[in-house]
Amino acid sequence: MYLLRALSLSLLLVLPSLAQIHTYELVPLVSIHRKLITDDRGLKQFAPWDVDCSVCKGKGIVDCPNCSEIEGDGDCIECKGKRRATCRACLGTKKAPDPLLELVCPSCWGLGWTRCGMCNGFGRIKEIDLSGNKRSVRCVGCRHKGFWKCAVCGGKRHIQAMRVKAKSLGRAKAKDLLKVRSVIQEGIAVLEAYNTSGNPSKVLEQLRKDLRPTIRVLGELGGMLDVLEEVLDSIHQAGSADFFYGSRLSDMQFIYKNRMLYLLQYEDRLLELYSERAEFNEEHKAPR
Ligand SMILES: [Zn+2]
Ligand SMILES: [Zn+2]
Ligand SMILES: [Zn+2]
Ligand SMILES: [Zn+2]
Repeated sequence: MYLLRALSLSLLLVLPSLAQIHTYELVPLVSIHRKLITDDRGLKQFAPWDVDCSVCKGKGIVDCPNCSEIEGDGDCIECKGKRRATCRACLGTKKAPDPLLELVCPSCWGLGWTRCGMCNGFGRIKEIDLSGNKRSVRCVGCRHKGFWKCAVCGGKRHIQAMRVKAKSLGRAKAKDLLKVRSVIQEGIAVLEAYNTSGNPSKVLEQLRKDLRPTIRVLGELGGMLDVLEEVLDSIHQAGSADFFYGSRLSDMQFIYKNRMLYLLQYEDRLLELYSERAEFNEEHKAPR
């Protein structure tokens, strides 16, 4: 928990090849609360959800989070330079989606795209040559593509809440919910111990091994590890001659570590809410 609270990362990269300000979004603490109501059979059900989107205040559009968050050389993926973009939280519907059913994609953070680790999705970087002249060059990390479709949400920007034994959480049995919850919590412990400043290829191999049981119950976690590898690969492509090579690798690992932790903490909270409900209902269900 304390890790996420500390995640307000503001990096100033002043380097010969890239003079950009990178500010990474705050990964929020998971806070999902929901009233339970008793239905006519005496069972607990979650109260219906009808809430306006608090992020855009019901407008559906916001100041573009992509280009207010990072600056780059080229066109912004999200607003195409208009500086206003569809709200990531409600996807323009103006209504907050039910947090028990879906969440903003933790891999792309609602952008729908995975950004290159070198150019941050802009496809170009500013270089300063030896005589101090600035010039704009194609990013070699991504071969000028800049960004590619987020593999975790498939570009949809939100993902569905996890399922347990192929059932939605509301239909799963309390004992299955609790079993999966303990696997998710093991994953949280593994991720909390993930040292993001080490050699990523070695560390990621081990991490994938240690997270295998958690990935088995939550495929999105494996997808996020794949995305992290892609992003690190874009940095490798640009090459280790880059002065900030090492810190780029550790920054990206730090960011994705916290996004993965967010995913697990989110699902953990859902499993807590649903297992409490299921335990109560299984006890109070009238015998057939
Ligand atoms: Zn923008
Ligand atoms: Zn909104
Ligand atoms: Zn790039
Ligand atoms: Zn995504």
